[in-house]
Amino acid sequence: MRTITIRYTAFRDCPNCEGRGDDGASWRPVKCKRCRGKGKLVTGVEVEDSLRGVLPDSSYDFNAMGEVFLLDFDEDEEFEVRRANTF
Ligand SMILES: [Zn+2]
Repeated sequence: MRTITIRYTAFRDCPNCEGRGDDGASWRPVKCKRCRGKGKLVTGVEVEDSLRGVLPDSSYDFNAMGEVFLLDFDEDEEFEVRRANTF
């Protein structure tokens, strides 16, 4: 089975909660909405296709939450997505 491996390579501290993952007051903690409590945002990813090797930046998109969107794949193409690391 073809596999797509996603590796997060760069992060930055969430500017909304300053990396705490929490933007409430000390007496009322609230999970930060921007980073969903992680305290970090993704700024870089590497996507490796078992068929084509490391994909160029232009063939995918990603957001600060680490969701990756493949741009030039057919809908009916079967592949398995793996995450090499988490954040
Ligand atoms: Zn945050």
